[in-house]
Amino acid sequence: MQLAKQEGRGHAFYKPAKRAESNRILLLSELRHALNHDQFVLHYQPKIHLPDGRVTGFEALLRWRHPEHGLMPPAEFITAIEFSDLIHPVTLWVLENAVEQCKAWQVQGFDISIAVNISARNLVNVELPERLREVLERHKLAPASLELEITESAIMRDPGRALDVLERIHQIGVRIAIDDFGTGHSSLAYLQKLPVDNLKIDRSFIKEMLQSNETMTIVTSIIALAHYLQINVTAEGVENNDILRRVSRMRCDYAQGYQIARPMPAEDVGPWLDKHLPR
Ligand code: C2E
Ligand code: MG
Ligand code: MG
Ligand code: MG
Repeated sequence: MQLAKQEGRGHAFYKPAKRAESNRILLLSELRHALNHDQFVLHYQPKIHLPDGRVTGFEALLRWRHPEHGLMPPAEFITAIEFSDLIHPVTLWVLENAVEQCKAWQVQGFDISIAVNISARNLVNVELPERLREVLERHKLAPASLELEITESAIMRDPGRALDVLERIHQIGVRIAIDDFGTGHSSLAYLQKLPVDNLKIDRSFIKEMLQSNETMTIVTSIIALAHYLQINVTAEGVENNDILRRVSRMRCDYAQGYQIARPMPAEDVGPWLDKHLPR
């Protein structure tokens, strides 16, 4: 009887799982099509240097111009890509376009850098450092103008291999940022070993810090820890002026968020920079 019951349960789970699997396969083939038919597009969100308020760079954020559903945010599709080998060509596409775009803005006279998000699976690709070097060389962008954003959990998936790949990337001169810091399985021991230039404090802490003393303590500690390790700190998800003023007083180095600007299409960046960053 016990067995029959278990079988019954197993059966009930089997069907939706199977449906989910075939949906995933369908989504993946749509995404492969999207990559080959120019349906991906990058939006760019600025980052400012808090001590002087200057715009120092932009983060490239992926969007899918879906033929039926319109512009789709990464939450709708990035996980499917990240769990398949499609992440390799997609990341290369993002890098190629972001690097080319950053170079174009620099040629127009704007002194800015570009940040690109990298997935766990990218970090176990031993060819990534070489591909990066090629992209930078092709577009004649200084390696220091590029920053890669990686989450702690992506690094902790295979810390040994990630450390090796990140070190080779850092040797090229590309900068490394830890994204969404504080949310993953953080290992302070690794933080010291990794070639990290920038810690981005997760927006959940930034959003809550004025309402919660505990969260405020966490943010204060992260800033102190980063500075002690000689790492820059960015507050992400700065949504209002109170938070902006506060993180600035707390000696956070950079800030990003809707209070400064929402991610925007490439064509809006030039006019936005003309207003915010004199050439
Ligand atoms: P992320 O790298 O942490 O990027 C920040 C996300 O927070 C972006 O969402 C941005 O639009 C949003 N954001 C910025 N400021 C604020 C704010 O003040 N308030 C709130 N509520 N949100 C804010 P987006 O563009 O939807 O991207 C979500 C995530 O998707 C990214 O988080 C990143 O993990 C992933 N992603 C985006 N583009 C790529 C990509 O090219 N490759 C990979 N592998 N992942 C990407
Ligand atoms: Mg990011
Ligand atoms: Mg983030
Ligand atoms: Mg995030």
